[in-house]
This record gives sequence, C-alpha cells and structure tokens, in this order.
Amino acid sequence: MNLILLGPPGAGKGTQASKIVEKYNIPHISTGDIFRKNISEGTRLGKKAKEYMDKGELVPDSLVIEIATDRLLEKDTEKGFLLDGFPRTVEQAVALDAFLREHGKAIDHVLDIDVDKDELITRLIGRRVCSSCGKTYHVTNMPPKVEGECDACQGELMQRADDTKGTVENRIEVYNRQTKPLLDYYDKLGNIAHLDGAIGLETLFAQIVDILGE
Ligand code: ADP
Ligand code: ZN
Repeated sequence: MNLILLGPPGAGKGTQASKIVEKYNIPHISTGDIFRKNISEGTRLGKKAKEYMDKGELVPDSLVIEIATDRLLEKDTEKGFLLDGFPRTVEQAVALDAFLREHGKAIDHVLDIDVDKDELITRLIGRRVCSSCGKTYHVTNMPPKVEGECDACQGELMQRADDTKGTVENRIEVYNRQTKPLLDYYDKLGNIAHLDGAIGLETLFAQIVDILGE
C-alpha cells in the first residue's frame, strides 16, 4: 500500500503516521525527520536544509526530490510506504508521479488531514518532542507525567527549533501558498480523502482504517 499524508503543520500527521505504519507494516518516510537527522549529525545536507527550516520556508524542490526518491529506492518500500511531509509542492508531486511511473508503481490513497489555523498554532507552540525517542507531547493538552521528561524513555523533552511563534505562522502561510494547491492536484486524480484533524486521534485513526481497509 502506497500512501501520502497531507495537511498543514500541526494537523497530527506524525501521530497518525505512527499508527498507520504500525498497523500496515510499511515504512514511515518523513522528509522533515530525514532533514532533522542530518542536522543533528552535522552533515552538509543538514546545514543546507537548516537555513530554510529555521525560517519555516521549504527546502528547495530539487534537494527534497533527490532525498525522497533515494529513500524510495530502498528495498523496504517494496511492500508499500507512507510519505509524510512529501510531496509539499506541485513540482514535487509531479516528480514523484514520474518516479513512481518509471518504477511501475502508483499512489493508492492520499489522506488529507485539516485543522483550523488557531488550533494549529496552539498545538505547535505547545508541542514538545522527546530528544531520544521522538515521542511528542503538548504542554497542556498532553503533558508528560514529569515535567520536561519523556514518559516512555525518561529522555529530555525539547521544543523543535521551528515550533516558535513567528516560524509557526510562516509555516502555515507557506502551507497555504505552496502545499494547498496539491489538494486540487490529487482531487483531480480522484484518490484523496479529506479528514477532520480536530475529531480526536482515535476517531480519526478509525476513519483512516475504514478508508484503507482492515
Ligand atoms: P511540519 O509538518 O510540522 O512542518 P516537517 O517535519 O514535515 O514538519 O517539516 C519541517 C520542515 O522541513 C519544513 O518546514 C521544511 O522546511 C522542511 N521540509 C520537510 N519536508 C519538505 C518538503 N517535502 N519540501 C520542502 N521542505 C520540506
Ligand atoms: Zn522518549
């Protein structure tokens, strides 16, 4: 099963992605995670991506397309994959389609999760992420048992560098301007489902399972 998760930052893509990949046993491919890993390892790619990410801008298409298609060439994607945060522009979507066609593949479902802007801002600014296992929390909506500490692994909770007020607003604007046109693109192809990200994560996941099948 080949899937794409679409939606603004803070819509809950990461949370649903973890649940989907666990249930359907497919790899989770997040371009944001790939960039953050490169940043923490201090690679050249990381340095380049960081310039854009810290401002809430998109990393240039050519770079993202290369990273994503390289990842899609790995063997574990043969049984399917979940793309989270890619494609994010029409140019990336066109490149992805061409790549898949070349490899005799296609996207089975696009899941679009939407949430209104005020809620996105609240979610992102309060988000905290475990620095060792990546589990996410929210200072008021989903606090850890001990402040600043991960329930699962006792790792230190951090705020993502791009989860600050100014950057969050820019990321939402960038989404509206550059990524939203993708909804039309996939609407025309007819394989997109529009989901409400405000209904609660278990209910939302149940709707996704309805679409994808048990
Ligand atoms: P979020 O959905 O919360 O914004 P991501 O982890 O998907 O978080 O992305 C974080 C940042 O990484 C983006 O703001 C952007 O700078 C960069 N990035 C990730 N994926 C892409 C992509 N497909 N195209 C361009 N930039 C990307
Ligand atoms: Zn942890």
